[in-house]
Amino acid sequence: MAPVVSAIGEAGLDFYRELSPRRDQELALRAQIELAQAHSKPLIFHCRDAFSDAFRIIEETGVGSQTVLHCWTGGRRWTKRFLDLDVTFSFAGPIAFETGETIRLGAELVPPERALVETDTPYLTPPPHRGQPNEPAWVALVGAALARVWGMSESDVAALTTANATRVFKS
Ligand SMILES: [Zn+2]
Repeated sequence: MAPVVSAIGEAGLDFYRELSPRRDQELALRAQIELAQAHSKPLIFHCRDAFSDAFRIIEETGVGSQTVLHCWTGGRRWTKRFLDLDVTFSFAGPIAFETGETIRLGAELVPPERALVETDTPYLTPPPHRGQPNEPAWVALVGAALARVWGMSESDVAALTTANATRVFKS
């Protein structure tokens, strides 16, 4: 209820670490989705090894237009499907990794007004700083990777993603 709360999350599903049973993860997620919907707040969605369940739950609850897919790592197929749910895609360090080709192919499909960049500090350090704890300042390297994917200037990507973040988080 506090006006300073700009989003609910991270919430989501992690079937990679599976720190709690899948059923419990879904129940907790659905409660957080209800909270986001009741207060018209964006939902920061963590999805690891759980694309199909995430898709099903977002579709069933209709929370898509409020959803920010945090550290999006989907390729073309899943990016296309989630686009239909009206979500926003947030890219982090992995889009700049040498091994990030699948993510870059997905990002190609994302319209610039539906993309954000994020740091996930201290994790997911983009090159050339791999092996060090991540720093918020290096989010510029995430934007640069997105600029290469879209064939746009880095400053245009910075302006667009800043405008998107301002709109999504109403800040
Ligand atoms: Zn996360």
